[in-house]
Amino acid sequence: MGETRTVAIIGAGPVGLAAAAHVLERGLQPIVLEAGDKVGHAMRQWGHVQLFSPWEYNVDKAATRLLAATGWNSPEPDQYPTGMEMVERYLEPLAVHSALRPHIQTSSRVTAISRAGFDKMKSKGREKAPFEIRYQNGQGPKVVKADAVIDASGTWHSPNPAGANGLSAIGEADTSDKIAYGMPDVLGKERTRYAGKTVAVLGAGHSAIGTLIDLAKLADQAPGTRPIWLLRGSDLAKAFGGGVNDKLVARGQLGAAFAALVTAGSIKVESEFRVSHLVADGPGLVVGALSGCNARQAVVDQLIVATGFRPDLDFVRELRIRLDPAIECPIALAPLIDPNEHSCGTVRPHGARELAQDEPGFYFAGMKAYGRAPTFLMVTGYEQVRSIAADIAGDRAAAERVELVLPETGVCSRSLPDASNCCGGPAISDVDACCVADEKAKQQGKSGCGCASSA
Ligand SMILES: Cc1cc2nc3c(=O)[nH]c(=O)nc-3n(C[C@H](O)[C@H](O)[C@H](O)COP(=O)(O)OP(=O)(O)OC[C@H]3O[C@@H](n4cnc5c(N)ncnc54)[C@H](O)[C@@H]3O)c2cc1C
Repeated sequence: MGETRTVAIIGAGPVGLAAAAHVLERGLQPIVLEAGDKVGHAMRQWGHVQLFSPWEYNVDKAATRLLAATGWNSPEPDQYPTGMEMVERYLEPLAVHSALRPHIQTSSRVTAISRAGFDKMKSKGREKAPFEIRYQNGQGPKVVKADAVIDASGTWHSPNPAGANGLSAIGEADTSDKIAYGMPDVLGKERTRYAGKTVAVLGAGHSAIGTLIDLAKLADQAPGTRPIWLLRGSDLAKAFGGGVNDKLVARGQLGAAFAALVTAGSIKVESEFRVSHLVADGPGLVVGALSGCNARQAVVDQLIVATGFRPDLDFVRELRIRLDPAIECPIALAPLIDPNEHSCGTVRPHGARELAQDEPGFYFAGMKAYGRAPTFLMVTGYEQVRSIAADIAGDRAAAERVELVLPETGVCSRSLPDASNCCGGPAISDVDACCVADEKAKQQGKSGCGCASSA
C-alpha cells in the first residue's frame, strides 16, 4: 500500500482520533467520519462513569505529541478520569487541534463500504481500487473515496439483548419503556427513573457491577430502591475480579466493593437466571427465565441490560471480511481474547498483522476489533492504530514492532498452561487469589474465574 494517500477512519472515539494522529504523523491524510454530532459520542453516553484505568493508559502517544505543541495541560498520569473528563480534557482539545480539525466530519454516519467498481465477488485488480464509503449527514447520500479504511466505530450502539440465547427475549421490544441498556446514570440524570424502585441489572461485567454499586448507593439515599443482580452463571467470584492483584487498581477495587455489597445483602442475587421472556405487568415488568423444566421470574419496575456489546457488521458486508465465528473479531485475535479460554482481562499487544483482513487496506481497530469480547483497553487500541498507520504507510518494520507493555489484570500466572498467550507484558511470577480461584474452578470442570467476562 505504498501509494496510499487518504485513510478513512470510522468513528471519532479515543481510538479513531488516535488513528487520525498516527495517520497524520505518517504523512497520510485522514478523513474521520463520526455518526454523533460531537467527537467522543459514545463515551459521552457513559460520561458519568469513572474509568478504571488512570490517565497514563488513556492517552495516545501521537495524540499527545500533537497536543503538547499547543501547550495542553496533560492530566496527572495516576488520576482516574470519568468518561466526560476524558472527552473534555483530551478528546475535545485533540479534535479542535488545527492539524486534525479539518479532517473530522461529525453527524456523518457510515452506512456502507465497498471498492469503486468492484463488488465483493470480483477479484482481479481489486486491491488497487479505492474504497467507496457511503455516509449520511442529513444532506442526501454522500460518498467519499479513500485508499485505506480503519473501522474504529466501537460497539456501544449495538448492545447485546436480554435473551440468554443471544436473541431478544420474547417481549423485549414490547417492554422497551422499562428497559435500559449499558450504564444509565442512576445517581444523576436518570435518578428519578430508578429512585425508590426495584431495579434488576442483568450481566456480570464491569458495566453491570458499576451500575449495581451505584444502585446500592441510591438505596442509601432513596428508601425503597432495591437492586437485584441477575446473572446467567452461578460463579459469583467470576464477577468480583482480581481484587488487590489487579494492576489497574481501580478495577480491582470495583470488584472488591461489589463483593462486599453482595456479602452484606445490599444487593439481592439471582444466579443461573437465563432470561427468556419479558412481560409488562401494570407499571412493572415480569422478567422470566427458563432453565430446563424450571421456570423462574423476578418482578421489577425497571430492567437494566448490561450483557455486553456486539459489533455492527452491516456496513462492512460488501467487503471481504473474515471473523472468528464466536467472538466476531479478526481470526488471529480470537485465541488471545476468547473469554471461554482466558481467565485474564489483559491481552498481549498486537497490531496490523493480527488485524489485517482479506480486503487489503481495511482494518478493524479499537473496541470493535474485539468483537464481542469484553476486555478491551484503550491503550491496546492505541498500539493497534500505531501499527496500522505504519502498515498503511508501508513501514513494515514499525508495523511489526511491539511498543507497548500492558498492565496485568492480576489474574494470570505462569502456572497456567497458556499464560504466555494470555497476558500482556511479562508474565507475573506470583500466583494471585484470582488465579487460585480460576484453577480450582477448572479442576472442578467449571470454566474458570474469567475476571473481566460479561454475563
Ligand atoms: C462503561 C465503560 C467503561 C470503560 N472503561 C474503560 C477504562 O477504564 N479503561 C479502558 O481502557 N477502557 C475502558 N472501556 C473500554 C473502551 O476502551 C472504551 O469503550 C473506548 O471508548 C473504546 O474506544 P473506541 O474508540 O474503540 O470506541 P468508541 O469510544 O465507542 O467510539 C466509537 C465512535 O464511533 C462512532 N460510530 C459508531 N458507528 C458509526 C458509524 N456507522 N459511522 C460513523 N461513526 C460511528 C460512535 O458514535 C463513537 O463516537 C470502557 C467501556 C465502557 C462501555
